[in-house]
Amino acid sequence: MKISIANKAGFCFGVRRAISMAYEERKNSGGKPVYTLGPLVHNPQVIEELEKDGIKTIEELEDHEIGTLIIRTHGVTPAIRKEAIALGYKIVDATCPLVKNIHDIVKDLNEGGYYILVIGHSSHPEVVGIVGQVEGECSVIEDVEDAREIERRKKLGVVVQTTALWPKFLEIGSVLIEKAQECRIFNTICHATMERQDAALELARAADAMIVVGGRNSSNTRRLLEICQSVNPNSYQVEYAHEVRTDWLDNVNTIGITAGASTPDHVITEIKEKVIELKG
Ligand code: SF4
Repeated sequence: MKISIANKAGFCFGVRRAISMAYEERKNSGGKPVYTLGPLVHNPQVIEELEKDGIKTIEELEDHEIGTLIIRTHGVTPAIRKEAIALGYKIVDATCPLVKNIHDIVKDLNEGGYYILVIGHSSHPEVVGIVGQVEGECSVIEDVEDAREIERRKKLGVVVQTTALWPKFLEIGSVLIEKAQECRIFNTICHATMERQDAALELARAADAMIVVGGRNSSNTRRLLEICQSVNPNSYQVEYAHEVRTDWLDNVNTIGITAGASTPDHVITEIKEKVIELKG
């Protein structure tokens, strides 16, 4: 049996940076509470490890002893940031620089009088944070059907969620360019996402079975699973090693493993060891 791990899998630089900022702040907090508003990254093991170190995930700003608030990789709206500061929290901003770049783009487009379109999932925190930067008109579209329904405008400015699928973005973009006299489309899918998607696709084509490791609430992990399933029906997602099933490995000689951008290396290793154990 051959087990291959995708050559780009697991932690991206944005996630590494956010986690190390959180631990650094905890070390220097002098015993004051350190929180993240919503999970710092979408991975259960990372959140468990942060909680063990005393870095708590909170869902609301109110009713907590005031301390440091780490802003997660997805970013937040200016209104939330303002509210946190008004309540007395110290802000440590771990928004990924690539997400910040999208904030800057939409602000510029806004000032230039463009109607802003964000391609992504409207309830995803990254998209909520991007939309919150826009003072003018803005819509979120998820798919090509939504794009077809957009009314024609003079100036359209388009950005895309960092974890979107490249082919889907191209398809939506080709519809949007006909929807405005001037249409500016920014490819804001992040490099780490694209590299992981390409590597997963290549491995899924070659392997008999594919295991995608990562949080079920992780958007980029779900995209990796979709990509793998599109070329290999024996593709499965797990969060923990105990979820790997023996029947997935029946009559399988080559197994590919990939992992979302918020999956720690030690979890990838645990999955590999579990596969070895089950295959005997
Ligand atoms: S997936 Fe991309 S955008 Fe998201 S945190 Fe990682 S590097 Fe940043």
